[in-house]
Amino acid sequence: MGLTRPDLDALPAYVPGRSIPGAIKLASNEVPYGPLPGVVEAVTAAAEQSHRYPDMGVRALRDDLSERLGVPAERILTGCGSVGLTEHLIRAVCEPGDEVVHAWRSFEAYPIITAALGVTGVRVPNLADHGHDLPAMVAARTDRTKMIIVCNPNNPTGTAVRRPAIDQLLAAVGPDVLVVFDEAYGEFVTDEQVPDAISTYGDRPNVAVLRTFSKAWGLAGLRAGYLVAAPEVASAVSKVITPFSTNLAAQLAARAALAAEPEMLRRVASITGERERLLTEVGKLLTGVPGAGPVPSSQANFVWLPVGARSAGLSTACEAAGVIVRAFPPEGVRVTVGTPDENDAFLAALARWVDSVG
Ligand code: PMP
Repeated sequence: MGLTRPDLDALPAYVPGRSIPGAIKLASNEVPYGPLPGVVEAVTAAAEQSHRYPDMGVRALRDDLSERLGVPAERILTGCGSVGLTEHLIRAVCEPGDEVVHAWRSFEAYPIITAALGVTGVRVPNLADHGHDLPAMVAARTDRTKMIIVCNPNNPTGTAVRRPAIDQLLAAVGPDVLVVFDEAYGEFVTDEQVPDAISTYGDRPNVAVLRTFSKAWGLAGLRAGYLVAAPEVASAVSKVITPFSTNLAAQLAARAALAAEPEMLRRVASITGERERLLTEVGKLLTGVPGAGPVPSSQANFVWLPVGARSAGLSTACEAAGVIVRAFPPEGVRVTVGTPDENDAFLAALARWVDSVG
């Protein structure tokens, strides 16, 4: 008999993207341009106050977000990355044995968080085009289902669901199921039919939206994310939040990042431009690879290469060429969009690998 829960033995570990000194890292969906202007100064100011607890209510940042999003601050919570908030949200909504429906493949934290909380994660396979199967997610509900998570755009496939399909999902789901939109990559969406869930659905009592400062806003290392939900849901989540989980540096840096929004948008525009270039080039290169499927379009800052059983081989070949990507065997490889030079290095590595397997 061990001291800890035996069911944790079966829990998969969260696998972070690998970092190798000197290598190009396209494995963690980070933005490559460094912190936004003003962020380093904000972190320096936070460092000088390190001996003090931060504001537990995160008032100033929540007020900034409130103004920006047009949502009352009482409906906004922040946390230690949106992954921290995902856990707190599930903890506030589900009791052990309840069910959370999510797509698969999708963000690998969902099955880990649900299992750790004793909640049943119900995985609904993606469609052949790698996008969410929303009707199947609706059909997967039982009387234990408390939450449906729509990862939009989806990590790691980059696919996004559009408004008509979401409207149907919301019409089919009763008021007793919380529909959670995980919009960690929302800033990279260019398809006008893909809704911004806060402005489109945010007023519904059974909708919650998760966003992060880690990706477009460039603060992955500082850990800040936010949740927008109905006041009753936000209030329940605030009861289970780990106290002070949005640290002082994260609070000040997130405010500085918000103040640098024009630069964030400029960076996002370069990334989405490069994304389209990568999609075209990768699509051409993979046509010669036996067993590889068509490359899905992406609405995020990464592209998905459905190379199946060759996933591990492709990621090893890229790593040998000094480019770290993320394999999800046996389905595919996810490659973060980097700077033009970084993307060229990846494309060169991919072309060499294609020659070797074709
Ligand atoms: N949701 C999705 C879909 C993600 O891909 C990630 C980051 N990998 C997160 C949430 C969490 O981001 P963070 O905790 O850094 O805010």
